[in-house]
Amino acid sequence: MKATLDHVGIAVTDLQAALAFYHDALGLDIEPGEEVATQRVRAHFVPVGAASLELLEATAPDSPLAKFVDKRGPGLHHITLLVDDLAAALGQLQARGVRLVDEQPRPGAEGALVAFIHPSSAHGVLVELKEAVATRTARVASPSSLPVANRSLSHDTKDAKEQVVEKGVRIGIIGGSGLYEMAELTDREEKAIATPFGEPSGPYVIGTLRGRRVAFLARHGVGHKLLPSEINFRANIYGFKVLGVEHLFSASAVGSLKEQYKPLDIVVPDQFYDRTKGRISTFFGRGLVAHVAFAHPVCATLSRIAAGAAKAVGATVHQGGTYVNMEGPQFSTLAESKLYRSWGFDVIGMTNLQEAKLAREAEICYATLALVTDYDCWHPDHDSVTVEIIIGNLLHNATTARQAIAEAIVRVNGERTCACKDALATAIITRPEDVPAQVKMELDPIVGKYMK
Ligand SMILES: [Zn+2]
Repeated sequence: MKATLDHVGIAVTDLQAALAFYHDALGLDIEPGEEVATQRVRAHFVPVGAASLELLEATAPDSPLAKFVDKRGPGLHHITLLVDDLAAALGQLQARGVRLVDEQPRPGAEGALVAFIHPSSAHGVLVELKEAVATRTARVASPSSLPVANRSLSHDTKDAKEQVVEKGVRIGIIGGSGLYEMAELTDREEKAIATPFGEPSGPYVIGTLRGRRVAFLARHGVGHKLLPSEINFRANIYGFKVLGVEHLFSASAVGSLKEQYKPLDIVVPDQFYDRTKGRISTFFGRGLVAHVAFAHPVCATLSRIAAGAAKAVGATVHQGGTYVNMEGPQFSTLAESKLYRSWGFDVIGMTNLQEAKLAREAEICYATLALVTDYDCWHPDHDSVTVEIIIGNLLHNATTARQAIAEAIVRVNGERTCACKDALATAIITRPEDVPAQVKMELDPIVGKYMK
């Protein structure tokens, strides 16, 4: 068994003082911190050569780390070794009579597989084995100058899961923060990703749902704090790309422009019409010109999966239709609503078009579940709709969206065959040698494979 040191975890009781020691006294660089709510710890990585120190401070008295410190005091908490084949390594260790906390690999952070060796067999040290992931997501994909806080923090020694879980996060979901409030989502962690375009709407909530690793993002931020026009669409999609997401499901509330799309129905649009004003909707520019095809703005394959899943959970689903993306935040005037109807458009919302554009540029498949909350103002019943009815519809739709998403992710299988995965293959106009180095570096997760 060949193993290399990934990092050494050190439990501290005063993180700021510990950071000051490593930074001021030892002259080491400190990476941005990360708070992992599920573990109730705050962590900072301090790179030392090829490996790192991980300074860990408990954020709550009932945190496993706090209990560790109570019992054993601050100091060495664990070491993490990287191995090529974790299952084989565990087999070898078992054959040698080594006591394991996890007899099978289980998913840890970043979709990596991990397993722990019991301290009683490792001379008092908790040893985490981690299988090296080919795409170590942000740490590899982004230059080190970008503050990406995404390191593994998988110290809990819970029982190994029987379920076979795929390694990487290939499926993303963007929608309301209520979407990931489901008991089925296990092994949760929050990951904050800083991007060259600023902060995404919030941390990505990564967890295991029906055997798949999935990443959720609350589009309007936790607590719904961002207007549609305030959303950093580029950062949101870039973050999904850095995580390795290939399939992105969107769920969002829309108004209906047609009688037949009743409140609580779901429309899976296949077209968009842009009524936004000056929103940034491209990763390109600054010396790198690219024009992706956008005649068919959503992924047909993923849209079929989304529609099929929504039907399977009992929703009334309309496949196809045009989503008018208005600027907001005000709803439409009667004149606008009537105009959109006269043009044959189907539903109206405020957010999905920018996501679809950026997902296409990032070669991510994108599909929308547009959940009808009410009729737009053209409808004679519009004025008689009460706040209670609208809130009731929103809650009902949130439940439907959670069920449909859970159903949809198990239907995403195999390698992609759609055109989305090669959207940039013929789109980049600027010659690689003419692209400014800074732009190449910033867009490496998206264009890196075309810039060799
Ligand atoms: Zn696709």
